Amino acid sequence: MPMDPSYFADMEAKIPRGKVRTRFAPSPTGYMHVGNLRTALYTWLIARNQGGTFILRIEDTDQGRLVEGATDVIYRTMAECGLTHDEGPDVGGPVAPYIQSQRRDTYGKYAQALVEKGCAYYCFCEKAESQEEDFQRREDPCRSLSAEEVQARLDAGTPYVIRQKIPLEGSTTFHDAIFGDITVENSTLDDQILLKSDGLPTYNFANVIDDHLMGITHVVRGSEYLSSAPKYDLLYQSFGWDVPTYVHCSPVMRDQHNKMSKRRGDPSYEDLKAQGYLTEAILNYVALLGWSPRGERAEQEVFSLQELAEVFDTGGISKSPAIFDIEKLTHFNALYLRAMTPEAFHAAAEPYIRKTATNPDLDTRAIAGLLQARCEKLTEIPEKVDFFDALPEYGLELFTNKKSKTNSEVSRAMLEAAIPALEALPAWDQDSIHDCLIALAEQLAVKNATLMWPVRIAAAGRTVTPGGAVEICRILGREETLRRLRLGLEKLTV
Ligand code: GLU
Repeated sequence: MPMDPSYFADMEAKIPRGKVRTRFAPSPTGYMHVGNLRTALYTWLIARNQGGTFILRIEDTDQGRLVEGATDVIYRTMAECGLTHDEGPDVGGPVAPYIQSQRRDTYGKYAQALVEKGCAYYCFCEKAESQEEDFQRREDPCRSLSAEEVQARLDAGTPYVIRQKIPLEGSTTFHDAIFGDITVENSTLDDQILLKSDGLPTYNFANVIDDHLMGITHVVRGSEYLSSAPKYDLLYQSFGWDVPTYVHCSPVMRDQHNKMSKRRGDPSYEDLKAQGYLTEAILNYVALLGWSPRGERAEQEVFSLQELAEVFDTGGISKSPAIFDIEKLTHFNALYLRAMTPEAFHAAAEPYIRKTATNPDLDTRAIAGLLQARCEKLTEIPEKVDFFDALPEYGLELFTNKKSKTNSEVSRAMLEAAIPALEALPAWDQDSIHDCLIALAEQLAVKNATLMWPVRIAAAGRTVTPGGAVEICRILGREETLRRLRLGLEKLTV
């Protein structure tokens, strides 16, 4: 039965036009890998740079791969990253629904329309999906079934798929913003399935229908889709539709030869967060994985999302694969941690400080102040500050330090002098402790370090600490400091 043309006219009438419209179209797999996050970011940046509209579309037609709660990961990640969408399943929009499984009827109608145009055909051959690869499409007997034969099989309830009828001859040329013009011989393209036997479309069909019906102007996706692009172009041609601008991005690699992969343990966005990386640093680094600023900003490395939206252009996207370098990300993270206001850093660091420095009397702001310039990741914090809660076991050898000119004997003399001096201090604040110890070093005619080293070792029980002796004593408080210094002295005396 021929399709009602008014259905298609109504669908065309709904398509928003005149503005840049981009979409991020993830399949709900349960995590956002780095390549996906980069696609989302670039897609969002193109829309924002052009004052356009950014759409979130959920591609869930592969029902076998659905993962419970997976769309929540997508929403959460996008929201955390500030990649706000203007249209999508949760916010609606003029071309709803934005979840492919809810658009099933639409795909069926367009597939039938293609059959009527002679650009697709019903295929009744029973094949397992695994056989699909080896099947010689050109020899598919269904390609040339008469309309009556098709109808008879449909009436008999024979299961079917609908396949694209690729022209046997000629070539197809498509344009990609990154890779330029690409031409392929039609004879190398397969009659891919458009509609599966369960009535749901394949990705290969759904993306074309939805990108058209949603008025998408720029399609940003991984370069693994380049080889399918000629088939998509043929579909656009069959319908007489304009082809959107393709922006195929080269993969993000774990090394020279391998793509990043969750299965091999490469981190997703959520993993990176859990490893102590800041969202802003992740986004900044991911933006530069395969894109570089040009012109005046060519040397700039640190970009806020807002700045990226101002300068992003597809001309800066590279054809070469990018290698994900965790050290580089760590470098960005440290830059971002250092650039935070002390308040913001304290807010971010406090939960980590509290994992090991649990004593409620401890001043977490002061501890955060010591850490800000000294950590690259928030997750380093707990082990750096655990000595505030409990003095670790430590050996006497820690008191010996060449550079500070200390050994056990010197250290004992220093602590013997420092304890009464600190006991006598009228106020326990940074300046008083500092001035007292500096004056004492002078009085004892030793280098400041000769006095500070044993005080810090006795106070912290370790050689590497965030902050020096003065800061640590001030945070520990007078009573606890003196208790620890006396313990140190006892150790040195026996
Ligand atoms: N659902 C596809 C994916 O997750 C999207 C590809 C595209 O953006 O067209 O890979």
